[in-house]
Amino acid sequence: MSSTPPTGVLGIDQRGIPTHACLVCGSTVFTIHASFEDYEIVAWWMDAECTQCGSPLTAPCPADRPIEEL
Ligand SMILES: [Zn+2]
Repeated sequence: MSSTPPTGVLGIDQRGIPTHACLVCGSTVFTIHASFEDYEIVAWWMDAECTQCGSPLTAPCPADRPIEEL
């Protein structure tokens, strides 16, 4: 099942720039693919989808953190 909205109907393709919130609806909950070890997430895929509006987006990871925030 894919909840990606039809082009021009709902949401926008936000892939390419890692984000913490959907630009369309403001949701901070994303649908991702992840793998687990010892009950913790150990890896996740960058391709994500806004759980609320279905817009495709890029999930953030620690390597995306700007240098000034380290
Ligand atoms: Zn959204």
